[in-house]
Amino acid sequence: MLTDLSFAYHTGRKQYHSTPILVKLETFAPPEFLKVLAITRVDLFIPILTYVFGEAQLGGKSCIVSTCRLNEDNWSVEPERLFKARIVKEAIHELGHTFNLRHCKSNDCIMNYCRGIEEVDLRTDQLCRYCKVLLADEEKRL
Ligand SMILES: [Zn+2]
Ligand SMILES: [Zn+2]
Repeated sequence: MLTDLSFAYHTGRKQYHSTPILVKLETFAPPEFLKVLAITRVDLFIPILTYVFGEAQLGGKSCIVSTCRLNEDNWSVEPERLFKARIVKEAIHELGHTFNLRHCKSNDCIMNYCRGIEEVDLRTDQLCRYCKVLLADEEKRL
């Protein structure tokens, strides 16, 4: 298990850089593991963005989701359920990237890029037809 993330900590931003975590995470996965997904409470960033909900290696092995920005209540009557749904959506989205799926323009697709938590809530947890085909092709390559 990857418990010490201090190597990825940025003292100026007080956040963790997700990209080096992905590289390290990969080394923790046994070779027979197809993908590895980490879920963390720490706030993640990549240099071009203020924060990220998660990051993945496109077509690679590892991905990570941060719950840090997912627990803002968006006037939900069931915050706990909403929080869990957001984590699941982000996990599927990042795993999709590891299966070589890129951001999708369709609003009815889990691979649609979300700029904020409201968009995460509006987003479906399903792949669009087009991305399903791409995923099936990727599965054949494995
Ligand atoms: Zn994405
Ligand atoms: Zn799509």
